[in-house]
Amino acid sequence: MNLHESEKIAGILTDLGYTATDSELNADIIVFNTCCIRENAEDRAEGNIGALKKLKKQNKNVIIAVGGCMTQQPNSAQKLHEKFPFIDIIFGTHNLERFKELLEAKLKQKKTLICVDEKEGEIIEGTPKNRTSYPNAWVNITYGCNNFCTYCIVPYVRGRERSRKIENIVKECRELVAQGYKEITLLGQNVNSYGNDLQDTDFAKLIKEVSSIEGDFRLRFMTNHPKDFNENLIKAISESNKVCRSVHLPVQAGSNRILKLMNRKYTREDYIDKIKLLRKYIPDVAITTDIMVGFPTETEEDFEDTVNLVKEVGFSGAFTFIYSKRSGTPAAKMDGQVEEEVSKRRIMKLIDIQNSINRKQSETYQNATIEILCEDYDEKKKMYLGRDTYGRMAYFSSLENLIGKFVNVKITKTGGISLIGEIV
Ligand code: SAH
Ligand code: SF4
Repeated sequence: MNLHESEKIAGILTDLGYTATDSELNADIIVFNTCCIRENAEDRAEGNIGALKKLKKQNKNVIIAVGGCMTQQPNSAQKLHEKFPFIDIIFGTHNLERFKELLEAKLKQKKTLICVDEKEGEIIEGTPKNRTSYPNAWVNITYGCNNFCTYCIVPYVRGRERSRKIENIVKECRELVAQGYKEITLLGQNVNSYGNDLQDTDFAKLIKEVSSIEGDFRLRFMTNHPKDFNENLIKAISESNKVCRSVHLPVQAGSNRILKLMNRKYTREDYIDKIKLLRKYIPDVAITTDIMVGFPTETEEDFEDTVNLVKEVGFSGAFTFIYSKRSGTPAAKMDGQVEEEVSKRRIMKLIDIQNSINRKQSETYQNATIEILCEDYDEKKKMYLGRDTYGRMAYFSSLENLIGKFVNVKITKTGGISLIGEIV
């Protein structure tokens, strides 16, 4: 999501006549698009901003702007301004689409311009985008989040959930396919609640409409929320010949007590039932997830519930996180914060288990021929790479540039998580 926002900021700058440069020494403007989902993201952003103090001293004309969800937290903009007085523009998540106006205003004044609206406004359509991930293109379908999981800062810094109109989304997707994009990823904090604020529209309907666009492309979407992931949607996915056979369904934890404290609004049993339903319609579907360890009061027993769930479901991949205390969220005030050492041990165990599941799944690919959308070239390996419909990454050699092409690859080596093969 943040990457796509950066594409919008770059698009606005291109419209104003700026071009990209590899070195900050040559830059006229440097924009940071920050994230505050976990503490280490914030620390990294602050480190990178601080590192520009010297550059700003040498070149007073370079404009330094800081946006993204870090600036949207209460009092954060003022604190940033005090800590890094050399920042020229501080803008919030609700002000991104207006970055052009902010920049123009700043060029007319000397002092730091701080523009962080507290409330989200209407959706602004038509922001230019410098897309950087060909053959994939990201498309926002909702902004904000209404779920208030107790650990999460997103609802506070991104506002209430707002859905883009279905016709605007379909139009954007149609244009992307016409431009030659081969994979579209629909984006929202909870794509399954798309349309709740509109009339007669839901995510299943959107999937059907985008799938009906003519052309050779794949459709992905993220993120799903288990509480809203329903049979109607599963049906729409199974009936589409565009939607990839992989679903990202974050479970967060396997213990009902912790899920309740997290305000996730489903139980372990509900989650497993959804998985069963999904596999009933799409038996070969690959399921990936997000898991958090060390949520306040998490005991060894709670953690073992998560481990057992991971083994039971057999995820094709899992993003694992150590709980990070976010000021202003209900979980930050909970007793029983878990020690860092304990969380680290738990995450290592989880990663080991998931890795061994991944390796076993990879082995089943030996000698199989799979259709890969070629996405990139790995300079180190000197090989092209891409993913199959299940999201499994494969590397292969080619003399011809195949980025953006669908190719059949026979898998010859399955050592780690990624596969290696040759074009057939
Ligand atoms: N809306 C999406 C994505 C949210 S952020 C969803 O609900 O899945 C992506 C992931 O970051 C979450 O799934 C969660 O696992 C993790 N995350 C969010 N807040 C966190 C926190 N305070 N500490 C650690 N991980 C967190
Ligand atoms: Fe955060 Fe929960 Fe919303 Fe995801 S659904 S963004 S985890 S509050």
